[in-house]
Amino acid sequence: MKQSIHKLPQELQNLIMTAHHVSVNKKIPAYLVGGFVRDMLLGVKNFDLDIVVEGNGIAFAEEFARKTSGGLTTHKRFGTASVIVGHSFKVDIATAREESYPFPATLPVVTPSFLRYDLKRRDFTINAMAIDIGALHFGACIDLYHGKEDLAAQVIRILHDNSFIDDPTRMVRAIRFEQRFGFHIEPHTLRLLKKAARLRMLEKVQPQRTRDELIVILKEKNPMHQLQRLEQLVGVSFLIRGLRFTQKSRKLLAAVEKQMSWFASMHAHRRQIDQWLMRFMVLIDALDLKDTRRVLEKFAFYRGEDKRVLDSKKAAARYEKILTSSALSASQVYSLLEPLSYEGILFIKARSRHARVHAHIEEFLQRLNGMRTHISGNDLRLLGVEPGPLYQQVLKKVLAARLDGFVVTRHEELELARKLIVRK
Ligand code: ATP
Repeated sequence: MKQSIHKLPQELQNLIMTAHHVSVNKKIPAYLVGGFVRDMLLGVKNFDLDIVVEGNGIAFAEEFARKTSGGLTTHKRFGTASVIVGHSFKVDIATAREESYPFPATLPVVTPSFLRYDLKRRDFTINAMAIDIGALHFGACIDLYHGKEDLAAQVIRILHDNSFIDDPTRMVRAIRFEQRFGFHIEPHTLRLLKKAARLRMLEKVQPQRTRDELIVILKEKNPMHQLQRLEQLVGVSFLIRGLRFTQKSRKLLAAVEKQMSWFASMHAHRRQIDQWLMRFMVLIDALDLKDTRRVLEKFAFYRGEDKRVLDSKKAAARYEKILTSSALSASQVYSLLEPLSYEGILFIKARSRHARVHAHIEEFLQRLNGMRTHISGNDLRLLGVEPGPLYQQVLKKVLAARLDGFVVTRHEELELARKLIVRK
């Protein structure tokens, strides 16, 4: 395994060697674990190191952070810590722990332990390998569940038959790794997954945990395959009873992906959009406003996310119609679209096949959205306007006139502002 470590980028090798020295100095056995080991064996880039230690994880992390000048965050209650090194590297350090599940689908009871028990609580064989980075056996691979063989055979396999019952979010994880790597879920694991799906186990999990796994799967590079497989094996009715990822959803997802690529190519300079959120909008497109609210509340999405989803839901059907009109002025298009998020606007574009809707939205994103008035509040103050709502009203009207081409220069804007003030 030393050879695989030597093939890693130099900065990663340095971090591993630093962890090795901390392990030796502090006499705390330490191991690389989880996705990092899997990706290293696959030759896939991964800058997130996952380290498990048999001993005081916090003390280990403090020393590691000091040696790497990294930014340290500790969670003393869980014996875990993260160290951010430079701009690209994140190192998670945890005390080895074992878990027992007093009830299915609930949070486990956790106690400090040894590596072998820490590996036993993991999801799949390919994620349950470790590499010793301690004093005696540096580079030795600990592969209690034949993860290497499963990597070579390209299969996703759980460690024990109760795995999906203990933690049903592993169903979503199984699909995610299967589709990400082009592997397949091995037959026995698949049978147990389907059984847990039939028992609707995912509905029994704390919704925030399901939400987190859903967000991660929606961030994957091949969302269409991911969601099709999710529909096939588990369904999406854990979000709300009766919901499905249908043929119509697939078409909409394809359209959304196309619009996101368009946006990325046209607007590279702007804020990046949250792609996962747009894919989530696709998933819940069939829901009405009331059910959308229920889902958002149940899964406790963050306020900013809630708002973007709800605004787009409210706007989508209505604006799609309005935007087909050829009689709309630039300022009318602006006032419709400006309050929406980029995600919401692109979603409307993806939902519509009407050329004029597309044209209005492109005009907005490419030209109108960036336009500003030459004059500002300061000019109005110099014209003697008292502080108050009049500022906003006048500036809004001047901007509308500019968008529609009625005023072009600063001088013309000032003239218009004067007229508007007198009229008030
Ligand atoms: P990714 O490449 O998507 O980050 P990862 O394997 O690093 O994949 P994480 O979600 O970061 O995935 O989890 C890190 C490790 O923790 C996993 O490799 C796995 O060993 C373990 N793990 C994570 N979630 C679970 C779970 N629900 N049940 C059991 N083990 C888990």
